[in-house]
Formats: sequence, C-alpha cells, structure tokens
Amino acid sequence: MSVIPFDERDGFIWINGNMLEWRDAKIHVLSHGLHYASSVFEGERMYNGKIFKSREHSERFHKSADILGMRIPYSVDDLEEIKYEVCKKNNLDSAYIRPVAWRGGEQMGVSAKLTKTHVAVAAWSWGKYFDEEKMDKGISLKTSLWRRPAANTAPTQSKAAGLYMICTMSKHAVEDAGFDDALMLDYRGYIAEASAANFFAVKDGTLITPTPDCFLNGITRQTVISLAKDMGIPFEERHIKPEELPDFQEIFVTGTAAEVTAVGQIDDHYYTVGPVTKKLRSAYEKLVLV
Ligand code: PMP
Repeated sequence: MSVIPFDERDGFIWINGNMLEWRDAKIHVLSHGLHYASSVFEGERMYNGKIFKSREHSERFHKSADILGMRIPYSVDDLEEIKYEVCKKNNLDSAYIRPVAWRGGEQMGVSAKLTKTHVAVAAWSWGKYFDEEKMDKGISLKTSLWRRPAANTAPTQSKAAGLYMICTMSKHAVEDAGFDDALMLDYRGYIAEASAANFFAVKDGTLITPTPDCFLNGITRQTVISLAKDMGIPFEERHIKPEELPDFQEIFVTGTAAEVTAVGQIDDHYYTVGPVTKKLRSAYEKLVLV
C-alpha cells in the first residue's frame, strides 16, 4: 500500500493560533506529549461543507483534555471557527478533521504542571476507513489478546492517545493473521469494541450494544442508537459475552471514520449483511448529508 507520508504533504495546518504551511507544522522532540502520552485528539468528518456533530466533537475534545488535567486554551466556539477555517484554507468540503492537543516541552518528567497545552488542527481528504469492496460482504474481525482496561485503570472516557497503544498492537496482530480489524474484550471478558469503532449486534431483530462503561461512548454510536429508536427497532444496551457470538445474525461497527460498517466474520463465526444493518447504514448516510 503506497501512502504519501503525512508529514510530506502540501496544504495548511493550524497550530497554536497560526496557519502554517503543512510541512512546517512541527513540534520539538522534547514535548511531554510524545514521551508521556499526555495527548488527546478528535476524529471528525466534514460532508458537503458541514462537519457532522461538530460541536459534540469539540466538546468531547475539551472533556478528554479535562480528564487528563489539561486545559485547552481555545473555547469550543474558537474550535468551531478554527476547524472550518482549516477546511477552507485547504479547499476541502469533504474531509477528515484531526484536532490534537498535547503537553509541551516546558517540563520533562512525570509531573507536568508547568507545561502548556498546545493545539493543532489538520484536515485531509479521506474516503472509506475500510476497503470499499468489503462493504457488501462485511469486514472480518479477530478477537484480540489485549483487553480494554477498567475505568479505574485508564481514563477510558477520554479520547487519549495512550489508550491507542493496545489498539495499534491489536490491529497489527489481526492484520498479520489476515483480518481487517480487532475485536477487543474488556477486562471482565465482555465484548467491548473494535480498535477504533463501537460494536453492535442484531439478535432476532433486536439491536444490542455493549454498555460503554470502560470504552468511548462514540458519537456515531449515540447517533445510531437514536436512529434505531426513531425507527422503532427494539434496542438493548447491556454486557455481551463472546459466547453469544454464534447467536447473532448481524454485526456492525460504528465510528466517525468507519461510519456504519457491516461485519461478515468474527473469528470462525460468519454473519450476513442483514436488514437492520442496511437500514441503519442508509439512515446514517442520509443524516450526515443533512
Ligand atoms: N472507540 C474508539 C477506540 C475510537 O477510536 C472511536 C473513534 N473515535 C470510536 C470508538 C467511535 O467514536 P466516534 O463515533 O465518536 O468516532
């Protein structure tokens, strides 16, 4: 797969109040965020000139930082303006948007009270998260050996960079085994989520999703739940055991990047891309364009 390296592209990136040439948007090697994972980020999509759930993402960005004790020196209103300015400057009306905040180099050690919070916003053109040709038959998941930590083991409701360490390791392991993504269980052994998307199953027409008590309650997840409720689809939020996997007829995952992506296989269980998945996928595709 050939990808133009992200630091060798053209365009503009907003960083700490300045719109810089893409290649000049650099940080110092002695930045606290790099050494101690004091970094939080967002992932958003703009469709036809409008960022879907933009304010919710900016609010979550603030909340993620607050949880880590970092203060983002730009208000939610400021961020709303900045994100649109970045898309405009890069001539994008369909884009993936990546706000990121990290502690700087004012202090280098575990205690970081003297550090400033630095902020950048980048945006680029990005199609489907998973291979387009997989959409019809669904992606494949393999259960990861890594488990989502308990809420008193890691700041699980923050979209914090450090939480992605086990996601990347899980994703690499399952890709090496020929699968598209990892299914992560939680510390209790319940089904939690994929490496960067929330999990949904359908059993006899009822939509079931895990209780988000130790992983991100995704904005797409919340959107899909409210679409399902509007459509009168029976819904349960509860702990799900992996032993239940053979009882489900449909599985899909949701996320800003993944949108609504059908799952055709988990380990040695196979699923069809069924009516509930199709209905919710097309309702979501319509909603993001409104
Ligand atoms: N879980 C993880 C670990 C994620 O990275 C994401 C993507 N942000 C999600 C769930 C889905 O969240 P959202 O729908 O808000 O993008």
